Amino acid sequence: MHPHLETLLEIQDLTTQRRDLAEAGADRDVQESVFGLSVEEALGQIDEKIKEMAESLPPQVRNRYQRLSTRNPRFVVSVIRGTCYGCFVQVPTALASDADRNEEIRSCQNCGRFLYLID
Ligand SMILES: [Zn+2]
Repeated sequence: MHPHLETLLEIQDLTTQRRDLAEAGADRDVQESVFGLSVEEALGQIDEKIKEMAESLPPQVRNRYQRLSTRNPRFVVSVIRGTCYGCFVQVPTALASDADRNEEIRSCQNCGRFLYLID
């Protein structure tokens, strides 16, 4: 897999965890017993890690990520049987089926999200 795609997937995973943690933040006793630190501290650490990983991306990929992530926390979407699971539009065969799948950073031509080929 392309290292930048891997980074994007990790950022997306952290972003999802961050959102879940922020939503669960009301239940502070549970969170503090799990993390041993406050929700704010945990969120701060996640933010720091996300920022660090985003900065490791080349500007072109980072800019696209930043644009996409402000609109949608799921900025990397799966392609299953040639369909983008972000917008459910068929992606061109050249994008969906390739020997070196996931070895390049590709985007859906319809919704612009990064594509992760599964099938
Ligand atoms: Zn799409």
